[in-house]
Amino acid sequence: MEPTEAPLFRVTHTKMESFRRCRKQYWFSYVSGQEWPPNRDSAASLIGNGVHRAMQKLCETGDARDGEHELETYFRMPKHAIAGPDTEHYPLAVEMYENGVKAHESIESEARWAELDTWVPSKSRGINVRAKVDRADRLSADRWQLIDWKTGRFDLDDKVDAQLDIQHLVLRTTLRVPRDATVRAMGWNLRTGEQRVRELTREDAVRTVDFVMRFIEKVATEEEFMATPGPTCTFCDWRDRCDAAEQNDKVGIDWLDEDWEKEAAPF
Ligand code: SF4
Repeated sequence: MEPTEAPLFRVTHTKMESFRRCRKQYWFSYVSGQEWPPNRDSAASLIGNGVHRAMQKLCETGDARDGEHELETYFRMPKHAIAGPDTEHYPLAVEMYENGVKAHESIESEARWAELDTWVPSKSRGINVRAKVDRADRLSADRWQLIDWKTGRFDLDDKVDAQLDIQHLVLRTTLRVPRDATVRAMGWNLRTGEQRVRELTREDAVRTVDFVMRFIEKVATEEEFMATPGPTCTFCDWRDRCDAAEQNDKVGIDWLDEDWEKEAAPF
């Protein structure tokens, strides 16, 4: 009988972020096997999705009317009524798309791709990395660009950088970017206009994949999955099934005054 190969560990930026944020949350999402809580749409998440959908259409045809129509139909859907055309949120979505059209017009490239969503396996490292790239451009044979459109009020630099590094890895592999080519990876915020730029080489991709492998080796040996409640609990989908957040509020740091603690550690 042929020896069976161990399955590759599936990695995404979201999965890694979840582990960093709160290991209990990671456990709920990827280890427990529990059914995921239903998606809670918010006006902000709908605006983000709607603008991304419009930017995809724009990138595909280059005609601003296609994105405009996508945006309009998306927000007319009854399911998206909380951010629909009659709400205060819709003009913001329109404004961001208009900024997106200007961004699109400012990019001169030989070829472009929208919404690249791919798995990239590495058998030698035991991982399978997945990332979605909102937009990729070949500026010239040895110069490429990837963009992650942002629509929030602000972005956290370290998270954007980590996300761009993984997207870079996937772009370089999927589109067979030449060895010596450089990639400009950008988080481009369509609300604030801010651009977070990373200049990346093939060597950076190697360093990223090695880092991801070591990170995953650590995740794979985790057994405790301790909760680390904090501000992030507010947006955690598992909050209703997790007692740690509530417990933290109740206990506070008053536990330092309790007698059992003084006796247990008499220093
Ligand atoms: S509610 Fe808070 S403590 Fe509980 S899993 Fe979510 S992030 Fe972690």
